[in-house]
Amino acid sequence: MTETRLRFPPSPTGYLHIGGARTALYNWLYARKTGGKLILRIEDTDTERSTQGSIQGILDGLEWLGIDWDEGPYFQTDFSHEHIAAAQRLLNEGNAYKCFCTQEELKAKREAAMAAKQDQVGYDRTCRHLTPEQVAEKESAGLSYVVRFKVPDSDGILAYEDKVLGRIERRYSETEDFVIVRSNGKPLYLLCNVVDDIRDRITHIVRGQDHMTNTARQVLLYEALGAPLPVFAHMPLTLDLKKAKISKRSHGEIVAVHFYREHGFIPWAFCNFLVLLGWSPGDDREIFSREELIEAFTLERINRSNSIFNYRKDDPKFFTDPKAISINEQYLRAMDLDELAPLVQEVLEREGLWNDAYLDGRREWFLHTIDMIRDRFHTLNDFASLGRAYFSDEFTVEEKPLKKNVLKHPDLKEWLPTLAERYMALPEFTLESAEQAARELAEELDIKPGIIINAMRTVVTGQLAGPSMFDILMTIGRNKVVSRLRAVANLFPEEN
Ligand code: GLU
Repeated sequence: MTETRLRFPPSPTGYLHIGGARTALYNWLYARKTGGKLILRIEDTDTERSTQGSIQGILDGLEWLGIDWDEGPYFQTDFSHEHIAAAQRLLNEGNAYKCFCTQEELKAKREAAMAAKQDQVGYDRTCRHLTPEQVAEKESAGLSYVVRFKVPDSDGILAYEDKVLGRIERRYSETEDFVIVRSNGKPLYLLCNVVDDIRDRITHIVRGQDHMTNTARQVLLYEALGAPLPVFAHMPLTLDLKKAKISKRSHGEIVAVHFYREHGFIPWAFCNFLVLLGWSPGDDREIFSREELIEAFTLERINRSNSIFNYRKDDPKFFTDPKAISINEQYLRAMDLDELAPLVQEVLEREGLWNDAYLDGRREWFLHTIDMIRDRFHTLNDFASLGRAYFSDEFTVEEKPLKKNVLKHPDLKEWLPTLAERYMALPEFTLESAEQAARELAEELDIKPGIIINAMRTVVTGQLAGPSMFDILMTIGRNKVVSRLRAVANLFPEEN
C-alpha cells in the first residue's frame, strides 16, 4: 500500500482559528492512524495579508495542541516557479488560454447575459476562440491578460468520491472557464494549491465543505496536469446557535486557539472537544486518550451535517461552549498527577506563584495539594485563582463567604485567635487534634461547630467551598493556619 500523505495548509492571515485547528487535528489523526505523514504547508501566496506573526501563532498553536508534523513547514511562495510552469504547461497543452477581456467588457457581458436571461455560467468564452495570430497581435499591442482554464466542452460530468459525502458529480457546463493566472502574472491560489499537493504527493485532502466549489475546479486541474486524484473528505462547517459561521467579528476571541490556552484548557482535552465538533465514534463514547482516538478515528465517520458551537454570548455562566468546559473538567479530575503537574506549574509560574521546591523537596506536598483541590476546578487557571491560598499568603477572600461566614459573627475576632493559640499549643497538629480543638472551642462557647469551621475555611482559603476543612489545615500547615486565624480582625471593616 502506498504511504498516506496528508497536509495542513493554513493561510497565515490571522490567528489559528478553532476551525483550522479542527482541520489540522483530523488530518493529523488520519496520518497517525494510517502510519502516514502530515505535511505542514504555509499558503502564503497572498503576500499582502500574510504575516510573520500569524505564521508564528499557527506554529505555536499546533505545538500547544500536540499536533506534530513530519515534513515542513514548506512555504508556498518558495514554489512560485512551479506554479508558473504549471500554468505555462496548461497553456502549451491547450488546456488553458489567454483572456484579454477587460473588467469593463466582462461587466457589460454579465449585464447583457442577465438581461437576456441566458443560462450560460460565468464568462462567455470569447477569448477561447481567438486564433494564435489574434493572440500574438494582442500581446504585441501590450494588452494585459489573465489565463483561464479551458473547462471541457462536452456535456459530460466531473466526478469524485468524497469519503464523507459519497460520490459528488457536477456537469462541466456548471463550471465557468475560471482564472488560474491574474493579469499581474501571479497564479491563483486554486492552481498553486493543486500544484503543491501534486508535488507533495498528497493522498488525502481533508478540508471544510466551504472548499467544495474549489474542489470541483481543482479536479479538472488534476486531470489536465495528468495527476491522480487524491481522496477527498469534506468536513461539515461549524456554526453558532443561530446557524451563522463562527468568526472573530461576531464571536470575538473565543474562536481563537490561543484563547483556550490563556484560559487554562488542557491541550488534549481541547483536542478531544474539537474532534467531536464534526465527528463521532458511532457509539456514546466522548472521552478518548490520544491512542484511543487515533484508533477510533475514520474519515467515514465525519458528520455530514454542520456542527454547532454552542456558545451564548450573553450567558455569563459559560464563557465558551459548555461542552469544552465539561470535557476539560473531566480531564482535570482524572488526569495522572505527573501529567497534570507540569501544566499547573506553567500556570503558577505565569502568576508568580511557583516555587522550585515543588519539583523536589516539596514535590509530594505539591502533588497532594493539586490532587486535593482539583475536584471543583474547571480550568488550570483555577489553581492560581480559586486555589491561590495554597500557594501564597496573598489571596482575596471572596465576598460571599466573607459576609456569610465571617462578618455575621463579630465575636470571631476573638474566637479564631483563641483557636489559633490552642493550635499553637497542641503537641501535634493532626487531623484529629485540629478537629477536636475546634469542636471543643465551639462547645465551650455554646455555638455550633459549623460557625467555627466555616469561618476557618473562609479565613484560611478565601473560598466558600472546597475539600474537607481539616485536610485543608494539614495541607496549608500549622504556621500559616495560625497566622491567618490570628489576622481575622483585618477582614472586618475598621471601627472608629
Ligand atoms: N489555505 C487554505 C485555507 O486556509 C487551505 C485550503 C485547503 O485545504 O486546500 O483555507
